[in-house]
Amino acid sequence: MTTLLIAEHDNAQLKDATNKAMTAAAALGGEVHVLVAGQGCKAAADAAAKLQGAAKVLLAEAPAYEHDLAEPLAALIVSLAGSYDAIVAPATSRFKNVMPRVAALLDVMQVSEIIKVVAPDTFERPIYAGNAIQTVKSKDAKKVITVRTSTFQATPGEGGSAAVETVAAAEDPGLSSFVGEEVAKSDRPELSSAKIIVSGGRAMQSRENFTKYIEPLADKLGAGVGASRAAVDAGYAPNDWQVGQTGKVVAPELYVAIGISGAIQHLAGMKDSKVIVAINKDEDAPIFQVADYGLVADLYQAVPELTEELGKL
Ligand code: FAD
Repeated sequence: MTTLLIAEHDNAQLKDATNKAMTAAAALGGEVHVLVAGQGCKAAADAAAKLQGAAKVLLAEAPAYEHDLAEPLAALIVSLAGSYDAIVAPATSRFKNVMPRVAALLDVMQVSEIIKVVAPDTFERPIYAGNAIQTVKSKDAKKVITVRTSTFQATPGEGGSAAVETVAAAEDPGLSSFVGEEVAKSDRPELSSAKIIVSGGRAMQSRENFTKYIEPLADKLGAGVGASRAAVDAGYAPNDWQVGQTGKVVAPELYVAIGISGAIQHLAGMKDSKVIVAINKDEDAPIFQVADYGLVADLYQAVPELTEELGKL
């Protein structure tokens, strides 16, 4: 069995999601080749070559691969698929866009967001917002799999010494072209790889209160900032901060939920966090059922006090 792992990267660096998906790819049991597709992404390919367990790195460079265009990338993966029994990618925003196209072009059923490899053809994946775990056996000769990275340990990014082989770009189907992008710049850790996350909910009441209460606490802890969907929908927090079923699925060492009730759709995105701290003025809020530490308090009093105390450490 040979598996093609599609790397998540930003042309310069390999993303942690790749290391985690590598663990799932290796669990399939065969040789793992890593595809790094981008433009000017040799550094990312060299990093992939150091991934433990990578037998080979395929480097594909073309302008069409620089900006996350799903159609050209899917065409490239399909052009390489003939040599592989399984094609694996992390279930990131990019690959949620690419992999279903790959599965459709190969006429196979995608196995989405696996959380465990039971056997090379059998996988566990969450359903009903994580309230049930489904065991799926795929009869397709070629498996197309996305990996819920929050449930896999990262494969060490040092120690491997795979050869980097250049592969030709596939013909661009010409269905899409890059126009422009606006990238939010932040010095805070990215949500999907942050070790600590501080999230605010509807109780924050405004964007200004996120800046005044949530962000200083996050900065004291070196944390990423998250939000509930209610906070995002109300315009208190940007879309890419949303944690939950329709946002990001995270599993940091520490998750601090502030003024968040704990609806199942929010829990679906954070309940696997190692330690959960909740601050809520309602002692019956469902978030306390998953919290390791709960503080029944008014956040407008408790959060500044907590931030101040942390500043004394
Ligand atoms: P609320 O439920 O209104 O809770 C606010 C909490 O703040 C309350 O518990 C209250 O006691 C507390 N509070 C108020 N004032 C204070 C104060 N001064 N101090 C301390 N505590 C205070 N939600 C997500 O988060 N992520 C998702 O991805 C997501 N996807 C969804 C998908 C679908 C299909 C659907 C139907 C819903 C989805 N939701 C999602 C929405 C979800 O159902 C909830 O509506 C949402 O999570 C509620 O957000 P909240 O906890 O911030 O707000």
